[in-house]
Amino acid sequence: MTKALIIGGGIAGAVTAMALHKAGIDAEIFEAYPTGADDVGAFLVVFANGLEALRVIDAHGPVVAASFPAQRVRVLDDHGEQLGERPIAGTGQGTGLGPRTLRRATLYQVLHAEAARRGIAVRHGKRLTGAETVHTAHGTKVVAAFADGSRAEGDLLIGADGVHSVTRGLLDPAAPRPRYTGRNTVCGYTRDTAAQLAPDTYTMIFGKRAFFGCTRAPDGEIWWFANVPGTERDAGPGAVPAAEWRRRTAALFADDDTPAAGLVRATDRVVASGAYDLATTPTWYDDTMVILGDAAHAAAPNAAQGASMAIEDALVLAICLRDRPDPRSAFAAYEELRRERVEKVVAASAGMAALAAPGPGGRPARPAPPERRTADGSAGADDWLTGYRIAW
Ligand SMILES: Cc1cc2nc3c(=O)[nH]c(=O)nc-3n(C[C@H](O)[C@H](O)[C@H](O)COP(=O)(O)OP(=O)(O)OC[C@H]3O[C@@H](n4cnc5c(N)ncnc54)[C@H](O)[C@@H]3O)c2cc1C
Repeated sequence: MTKALIIGGGIAGAVTAMALHKAGIDAEIFEAYPTGADDVGAFLVVFANGLEALRVIDAHGPVVAASFPAQRVRVLDDHGEQLGERPIAGTGQGTGLGPRTLRRATLYQVLHAEAARRGIAVRHGKRLTGAETVHTAHGTKVVAAFADGSRAEGDLLIGADGVHSVTRGLLDPAAPRPRYTGRNTVCGYTRDTAAQLAPDTYTMIFGKRAFFGCTRAPDGEIWWFANVPGTERDAGPGAVPAAEWRRRTAALFADDDTPAAGLVRATDRVVASGAYDLATTPTWYDDTMVILGDAAHAAAPNAAQGASMAIEDALVLAICLRDRPDPRSAFAAYEELRRERVEKVVAASAGMAALAAPGPGGRPARPAPPERRTADGSAGADDWLTGYRIAW
């Protein structure tokens, strides 16, 4: 049986392992962190395209169970004046799966639990440092080396090791580095607020100096995020204390007449992560190694599609490996099917990030009222994105 070494136990890694399992390919996950992944404090939205891809391998159930719906978005200006309201693209109709909100850590946990239930092994504390292709009389192998001195051997290696991927550099030492966008995403959770927010609805606020978004979880807790300007040095883990992020974030919204500053002040602990993107990676594969998810194409968080793209990549790669005689031809087919779409998403997200960023006067561009969607809430103009489906 073909054996795949999957580097990274994040979203792409766990889903790839399950998709390969369905394709009859043995997979083992090697995750750098001892118990999970870094940056677990943020929350995210998985859209219909990501959930429907999970449905193909019957892994959508635990994600839906651990999350809550995101049905509508309303947009406010810095005076708290409502500029518009609309259904979120890809809101499910009939048996369709609509967008869902959950913590990133929860998404990792439920995907890992589901992978474990299917008998997939996850080796923690295995940080990839190198890999080489070895040709023997019995065929071609890839040997991965880890920081703890151990090694692992397989028929192919899949780099699902995120935006700062080591695998990407092994494939091409000259690969472009991810671009720091000049923004950090600061997230927080609070119950200590008088802000009245409708359930299942995202309130997006174009403040004078920064962009803010929030939603209410079913238990009443408010989950919020803000795009906070900074330097790349600020973006490093722990470089800026959480209390300082809270102070900076509250100050950005202090002059606005919106719930943003109050929500930030009411939050005990905030988490921040640098927003990076990677518009194009020229080399995705060689004879035995391939990259997917953020390792191949990272989008700024604004389009909220990085997780869904990672899930789609995983499914398409598994199908290509199932149907092609050797890894290299499977990798080529996977790239052919994926590159245009994922690069379009990265570009769309960069465009949204620019809209949310302060202009020369320090104020984000006042957005046009959100475009009208079809009366049934279908995706309309975003069909190319959330309407994408994968046939096994
Ligand atoms: C603040 C924020 C908000 C976001 N919001 C959304 C959203 O709303 N919707 C959405 O779809 N996406 C969102 N994203 C993006 C989304 O989180 C990523 O696109 C997604 O996590 C990519 O999955 P991945 O598996 O490719 O990478 P990751 O989830 O980053 O997983 C990579 C894994 O590889 C491991 N690893 C790294 N290096 C090594 C190594 N050398 N050896 C072994 N293991 C290694 C890491 O520890 C990690 O577990 C957001 C991102 C951020 C930062």
